[in-house]
Amino acid sequence: MGDNSHTVHSTMKTVFGIPVSTGIAIGKAFVQATEGFRIPEQTIPANAFEAEIKRFQTALQFAKDEIIVNRESTKIALGQTFADIFEAQLQILMEPAFQGEMEALIRNRFFSAEHAVTAVMRKNMDIFRQIDNNYIAEKVNDLRDIEKRLLRHLLGARKEVLGQLSSPVILLSSNLTPSETANLDKRFIQAIVTEQGGAVGHTAILAAALEIPCVVGVGEFIAKVDGGDLIIVDANSGSVVICPNEEVIEQYQKIQDIETSRIECLDSYRQLPAVTTDGTMIAIHANIEFPNEAENAIQRGAEGIGLFRTEFLYLIQDKDPTEDEHFEAYKSVAETMQGRPVTIRTFDFGDDKALDRLGTIREHNPALGMRGVRLALKRWSLFRCQLRAILRASIYGDLHVMFPMISTVKEFRQAKRMAVQEVMDELREAGIPFNPDIQIGMMVEVPSAVVMLDRFSEDADFYSIGTNDLTQYTLAVDRGNSGVNHLFNVDDPAVLRMIWHTVRVAGRRDIPLSLCGQVGSNIFNIVTLIGLGIRTISCAPSSIARMKQICRHISLDDCKMIARNAIRMSEAKNIQDYVKNSLQKVAPVLFEPG
Ligand code: PEP
Ligand code: MG
Repeated sequence: MGDNSHTVHSTMKTVFGIPVSTGIAIGKAFVQATEGFRIPEQTIPANAFEAEIKRFQTALQFAKDEIIVNRESTKIALGQTFADIFEAQLQILMEPAFQGEMEALIRNRFFSAEHAVTAVMRKNMDIFRQIDNNYIAEKVNDLRDIEKRLLRHLLGARKEVLGQLSSPVILLSSNLTPSETANLDKRFIQAIVTEQGGAVGHTAILAAALEIPCVVGVGEFIAKVDGGDLIIVDANSGSVVICPNEEVIEQYQKIQDIETSRIECLDSYRQLPAVTTDGTMIAIHANIEFPNEAENAIQRGAEGIGLFRTEFLYLIQDKDPTEDEHFEAYKSVAETMQGRPVTIRTFDFGDDKALDRLGTIREHNPALGMRGVRLALKRWSLFRCQLRAILRASIYGDLHVMFPMISTVKEFRQAKRMAVQEVMDELREAGIPFNPDIQIGMMVEVPSAVVMLDRFSEDADFYSIGTNDLTQYTLAVDRGNSGVNHLFNVDDPAVLRMIWHTVRVAGRRDIPLSLCGQVGSNIFNIVTLIGLGIRTISCAPSSIARMKQICRHISLDDCKMIARNAIRMSEAKNIQDYVKNSLQKVAPVLFEPG
């Protein structure tokens, strides 16, 4: 955790958001896209202090000149009273005690100039905050302003940016774009906290894939944090503690230890089958976003890849991937999975997975706009390139193709025709091998597809329920909007009835069915889902062991009883409470600590 001495004394504050990728992290804030940049605690070689002091004095001179210009222009525009604000800042900046202390840290303790500025300013801000006098307390803002001014001159273009972190941080951002999230360097991101975003938005999904603790939808709070402040992220409960005191730090360090032993204990379930106490097998597959997650999925006990989201290939670079880049990614997952089923979903841009260069974010109502298979059918060359690569890779494993956002039978038929007639014919003619019997299926995530499901069964080889979008579209609640997050409820009886209907139709038509929305990673939801008849669940690799543990401690009869009662209720909240209480009763062992 390093030396937190200049941050732990600031006023502690806790904010709350939606926990979307579990875990606890304690570290220093990196505030994205504000001036609250984080200062690495760097030291300099002992013989470099004179040059460093010169650098500090130059920055000081620039800051002084800047404040004088501000003072003079303010005097002209607003008068002396307002100009005095800058006069006061000037006096603080030129205060010999401050300067002396900073220079001493550089000379005697070999602090970098930036580190010395931050250390002295933070210490004084803390002292000012503790003085019971409003006038002095207000001066904290002046100190912060001066600190930022000095740092701006010292750091210039060398400000730490997200893409070039050199040590672990807690990333705080108003919102992350899909490409920013996809390009995060996992080694240096201890946790993510965003002001915006919903429970199943792209940040949530990618953070879970990267196994980075994440809390989204906190609302405005970043202005209260400075880069380098100590932060605790409890992504199990959704709380974020800014500048925690020693007692809270200790408390969370203990929780972290318990968490580590709980995860170790869960590890024993990884390679066991997910079989209920009365012998029903549940297949647990993994959702992945990046090809290199396949290995991790196997280690975590995945019996297949139920959803390989392919948007990552487009997000990690500024251009569209070539057919060979697609092919290499799919082939590597197919080979890694060694014959286990792998469902590759064709690209699903639009809405929460916007990609600027495809023009998907300019729409007035993107969730209902050009997304998923609609975009694929419109951008034929992009779609063709991906389909060719999937088919070429199909000889290296048990690959399946799945189309997202299917809302009409016609759409599914068009997409399938492109794959089966056009692309397969092309490959045949060119003598390129592929599996002609590759299974072609669809996401069931739009209410119209649920209602019309029997009609799809003539064409679709399998169905996979996407509860993230199914919830969004059934309840008309934007999945990425923290303002309506309280209405985004997978446990809503309307959503449960959609799932139930899908299970019954798929069963009657004998079409294989799985479920791959984030709901599959929720311990309470899994019981209801099994009770409703779901037998294949695809979830984040990090949730697999917990899912298997739950399956091995419940009976199918109990799941059915819970689902039957839940689906008769009228309100999501009642269902949630009921399922939670019931599970606690039938399988208390699941709630024992450690
Ligand atoms: C879903 O909608 O539930 C799903 C799995 O797909 P995505 O989250 O990528 O839209
Ligand atoms: Mg979806």
